Amino acid sequence: MLLPRSLLDILFPPLCHACRSFIPLAGEILICPECLEKTSFLVGPLCTICGTPFTTEKGRGHLCGDCLGRLPLHRSRSAVVFAGPVRDLIHGFKYGNRVHLADPLAILMAGALASFREEARPELILPVPLHRKRLRERGFNQAQLLAKVLEKRWRVPVETGNLRRIRWTDPQTTLDAEARWLNVSGAFEVKNGKRLAGKRVMLVDDVLTTGSTMRECAEVLLDAGVAEVVAVTVARGGVQ
Ligand SMILES: [Zn+2]
Ligand SMILES: [Zn+2]
Repeated sequence: MLLPRSLLDILFPPLCHACRSFIPLAGEILICPECLEKTSFLVGPLCTICGTPFTTEKGRGHLCGDCLGRLPLHRSRSAVVFAGPVRDLIHGFKYGNRVHLADPLAILMAGALASFREEARPELILPVPLHRKRLRERGFNQAQLLAKVLEKRWRVPVETGNLRRIRWTDPQTTLDAEARWLNVSGAFEVKNGKRLAGKRVMLVDDVLTTGSTMRECAEVLLDAGVAEVVAVTVARGGVQ
């Protein structure tokens, strides 16, 4: 039975996921206009490869210093800046067990990165894996939950289990850029390269900061014969 919207609003008042205020005309994302207003979407000019925004420049995208060194990831984009209400949402999602927040966060990605997805034409979505010890601690892989929502919206199948995190690593958030690279070096492996060979794959994670995790994943995937690796995240850290 379908209940009229007004009755549904009384039974289950649509509240903003971020500030818990009532949203009279709630869309499916359930983030109020005020919270969306406080959210900075990442728009150009960006590094055409890693998606780093050039905050002081106007005009067309070009390559940033890191990408001029020709690192393996083909292209990477994030929906929003890791700040404000979205940072709170991601925090609650990962550390507060609010797993239902995968929906609004992935819907945010699906909308903001729709044209990137069109261009990239991924054949498989690969969530960045957690080490099994971390998975046991947390009880879920946030990247996988996001990937599952994107799978439905973008009609691209999710592949799990083939890209694996084989080495325990410290949380990247406690480390500086240089240490992040060392920390994830050799942390991943591909189990069954044949399934991935020749494919265009899209890595999914919640936050990208230096990109070291994504690049490390890309390296093992490309070594396993993957044709192209692009990456998407909800948010981008380290951006003003
Ligand atoms: Zn709100
Ligand atoms: Zn770059």
